[in-house]
Amino acid sequence: MSEHLQAIRGMNDILPADSGEWRALENALVAILDAYGYREIRLPIVEQSAVFKRSIGDTTDIVQKEMYSFDDRNGDNLTLRPEGTAGCVRAVLQHGLLQHQPLRLWYGGPMFRHERPQRGRQRQFHQIGAEVFGPPGPDVDAELILMTARMWRALGLGELRLEINSLGTAEARAAYREVLTRYLEAHRDALDADSLTRLERNPLRILDSKNPDMAAIIADAPSLADHLDDESRVQFDALQSILADNGVECVVNTRLVRGLDYYSRTVFEWITNELGAQGTVCAGGRYDGLVELMGGKPTPAVGFAMGLERLLELWRQARGARPQAHPDVYLMATGNVLDPHALSLAEVLRERCPQHRVLVHVGGGSMKSRMKKADRSGAMLALILGEEEVANGTVTLKPLRADAPQETCAQGALEEALRRWLAA
Ligand code: ATP
Ligand code: MG
Repeated sequence: MSEHLQAIRGMNDILPADSGEWRALENALVAILDAYGYREIRLPIVEQSAVFKRSIGDTTDIVQKEMYSFDDRNGDNLTLRPEGTAGCVRAVLQHGLLQHQPLRLWYGGPMFRHERPQRGRQRQFHQIGAEVFGPPGPDVDAELILMTARMWRALGLGELRLEINSLGTAEARAAYREVLTRYLEAHRDALDADSLTRLERNPLRILDSKNPDMAAIIADAPSLADHLDDESRVQFDALQSILADNGVECVVNTRLVRGLDYYSRTVFEWITNELGAQGTVCAGGRYDGLVELMGGKPTPAVGFAMGLERLLELWRQARGARPQAHPDVYLMATGNVLDPHALSLAEVLRERCPQHRVLVHVGGGSMKSRMKKADRSGAMLALILGEEEVANGTVTLKPLRADAPQETCAQGALEEALRRWLAA
């Protein structure tokens, strides 16, 4: 009997024991997005592959190694979204949403990347992200970071480190790229295979390498900070002073380049030491060139995405296991013939007291097994309908968690009785 079909490796079910916590996490984050005036955009999970190839960049890990791409029955090449920004820009352009700027949006849902599954790294994972189109920064960059800081406070998360950097303009980066390439060429022998391919196509990405053997080479590399254009530097300084004024500490990490090609100027990551190697829970930055690259008018833009699996794990660590939700009352009749009465009374209760969770017994069985199910449900009270109760229009309340005698009350007075029993 071990022939059950299995889910795809790295694509996890979220079971009932966990889904309540997921929803609570999402609600807490969305409440803050809402309070800052961000509006939800719901995007398709599948897009034409060109949407991602063009925006994320041909030389990135995502496009080269991680995308789930396939030909559909029409022969169109489609891809399961590996991230949200590309589809968001596609939608914003398609629907002319850039007419009213600034445009503040958020999105959420599953993303797909063919990576090696491990702690904090799945093939289907979930993000919530925000994007702002229009303002060139640094005010809006700061707003996004202050908003995420507020989210961590609302969740009661402990130590999260904010690392920031400026990648400068495309021109500044091109000049730096030459200097960096010369340095790396001179240390060719010390580069790993990944870095050698990157050297030709996208040397900045070498700074993003996670290989510990590369750490020394990277530490000694010329710094992007020394090649920043003046305007980017002014912006970057302004961002830091807004953050400081609002009590948000940050570390400037001049090696922070981010894995996607489309970033420019401000980039940032929120990192924890509590989750092992996969410590980045939220990452973002400015992508001033992307809207134009995707066929729109040049429009500055900035955004972030957070990984919900990693955040949830951190949240659990911070506040411990939560009690499972359980019903308030378990409603049963004493025998099969009376079961329809139990269903009808449950409907009446749901109408009159929608705040209470009512689990109604289904599937028949002996009185003993009914009581066992009532107990196992975690409900505070069993409501029992026997022949006498049905005849008299009453119901018996049996406390399941308190050492108190049962009582019988008129069905019309049930609302009041429940309020009394469930108030504590
Ligand atoms: P990493 O360096 O961990 O691979 P990334 O730079 O590829 O991250 P982004 O594309 O910036 O990640 O995505 C934003 C956030 O989404 C990450 O900081 C992380 O929290 C989460 N994330 C990314 N990839 C995964 C994954 N495969 N599984 C779980 N969460 C992920
Ligand atoms: Mg990655």
